[in-house]
Amino acid sequence: MLENTTRTELSSLGEFGLIDHLKKSIQLHNSSSLKGIGDDAAVINYSNNYALVSTDMLVEGVHFDLAYVPLRHLGYKAAVVNFSDIYAMNGKPEQLLVSIALSNRFSVEAVEEIYEGLLLACKKYKVDLVGGDTTTSPYGLTLSLTVLGTGEKDSICYRSDAGDNDLICVSGDLGGAYMGLQILEREKQIFRENPTVQPDLEGNDYILERQLKPEARKDIVELLRELKVKPGAMIDISDGLASELLHICQHSQKGCIIHEEKIPIDSQTAQCAQQFNLDPTLCALSGGEDYELLFTIPLREHDKIKNLKEITIIGHITDKSSGCNLVTRDGKQHPLTAQGWDSFLKKN
Ligand code: ADP
Ligand code: MG
Repeated sequence: MLENTTRTELSSLGEFGLIDHLKKSIQLHNSSSLKGIGDDAAVINYSNNYALVSTDMLVEGVHFDLAYVPLRHLGYKAAVVNFSDIYAMNGKPEQLLVSIALSNRFSVEAVEEIYEGLLLACKKYKVDLVGGDTTTSPYGLTLSLTVLGTGEKDSICYRSDAGDNDLICVSGDLGGAYMGLQILEREKQIFRENPTVQPDLEGNDYILERQLKPEARKDIVELLRELKVKPGAMIDISDGLASELLHICQHSQKGCIIHEEKIPIDSQTAQCAQQFNLDPTLCALSGGEDYELLFTIPLREHDKIKNLKEITIIGHITDKSSGCNLVTRDGKQHPLTAQGWDSFLKKN
């Protein structure tokens, strides 16, 4: 999917040449970044705030498939999903470190495309790329990203902070990224069998974007701050709603009840799920990579958030002894599992 036609071998620049070359397009946005690329370590000054640190590794063939992921999108998504982890702590991402292992299959232009995506995300979220490491790999591409951010001591949201009777809220809608992946996998299979067939991606723009170019919910964190609503527990939805909600309940020593009819699902996601003979609710519960925020808020804050378009209340926190449950559209209650809910497992 490379758009560039010229190919410059990595060996023609060498490791230091490549770093110098990439450095040219990097600008710093945050006053906390005292020293970026170019010394043995970056220098950061967070004054009185706590530092938040998170890291993610992406391995070609395991976490991404370059058959349908453009390198620019890979860079963008790799950065955004890291920023999302900091937002999920109710923090602000400020610096990014990028380590990259490359085989000689990749050219300088290919690395430039990855960095275009990384830097586009850095610009949009005002994060500074302050360092990393560059090395060779016998096969394929590995990216390891570390994001640093800040959180005010009393504002940080831990998974363990869900309170009694808290409302359970999600941002945006769920299941779209998973359906986007199903479309891309289907078209890849068709292309493998017959390379003359053009991919049919028509009418699926939203779910493809959810998969290929997700966004982190900086806006939600800022909105809650403006409204002076401090979430109890918060987590970003990388592995599906069910799994993340179970994490919150386990860490908080609580139970929960959520309602199937309240789970926000976009119409394109629902239509596509039907085409694939999948239950849209299960896609939302178990299909990952939506990067929406799942959080609890105290009941007393209900009025402040009840009319917000981007936030949906899907249930509430209960006693640990009641377990974690989903009420389906027919009014029946089912124990929630990381795969969705138990009746699904029994059917299969
Ligand atoms: P060292 O040998 O001390 O590890 P390097 O030559 O690897 O130093 O790195 C020199 C500088 O370039 C450092 O500031 C490092 O953080 C930065 N750097 C190296 N690789 C990358 C990369 N892939 N992306 C961004 N910065 C990088
Ligand atoms: Mg190094």
